[in-house]
Amino acid sequence: MNIGGLIRNSLIDFPGRPTVVVFTQGCNWRCPYCHNAALIPLHGVNQIAPDAVFAVLDQRPATARSLVVTGGEPTLQPGLISFLQEAKRRCVTVKLDSNGSRPMTLREIIQAELVDYIALDVKGPLARYPKYCGKRVTLAALRESIHLVMLSGVDYEFRTTVVPALHSVDDIAAVGHELAGGRHLYLQPFRSEQTLRPKLLGSDEPSRAFLESCAERARRWIPTTIRI
Ligand code: SF4
Repeated sequence: MNIGGLIRNSLIDFPGRPTVVVFTQGCNWRCPYCHNAALIPLHGVNQIAPDAVFAVLDQRPATARSLVVTGGEPTLQPGLISFLQEAKRRCVTVKLDSNGSRPMTLREIIQAELVDYIALDVKGPLARYPKYCGKRVTLAALRESIHLVMLSGVDYEFRTTVVPALHSVDDIAAVGHELAGGRHLYLQPFRSEQTLRPKLLGSDEPSRAFLESCAERARRWIPTTIRI
């Protein structure tokens, strides 16, 4: 497990729970608006040992242990399953963030009951995905991840970062359509102070009015679409 970052106590990363957050190192995508570009290379400058994470969790009472595993893309980590098994041995409540590119790993984690909450990124309409994730993608894999999560019985959310330079209101409506029947869709505003693609640096962030128009259109398909 290659961990490139750790937050010891976050109040915003796991709905309703103060949590430890680990950032896995390495991502298979290159989203132009990526806020965590330092976590994209497979080898980063920070290396945090899994034992250091468990030491932080062990300081909390067993009933108050929660952990968010985010990235980078956590499902790329060969040690992810054993890391989550170790967390579960400690009665930790686990949220996993994923870009959905590796449904086989997601399936394994769900079937082994190693996760309590999944946040799945859906970056834009599937038909134009490379524009949003910066890579060629296997659409069948993304669709499989979406269906897996919806049918998993695990609490979940879909999440889209809204970037005015890349998304129109119609694009977000199309995302809603593709996720029709899903539980929650969170629309989070793009932040322009740190981006992978230099062209987006300092570019327009979505206004509340724009985000609300996007949410309104997506609510036709997912009534609980929430703009953050
Ligand atoms: S925003 Fe995109 S490139 Fe950045 S970590 Fe997430 S999936 Fe990878």
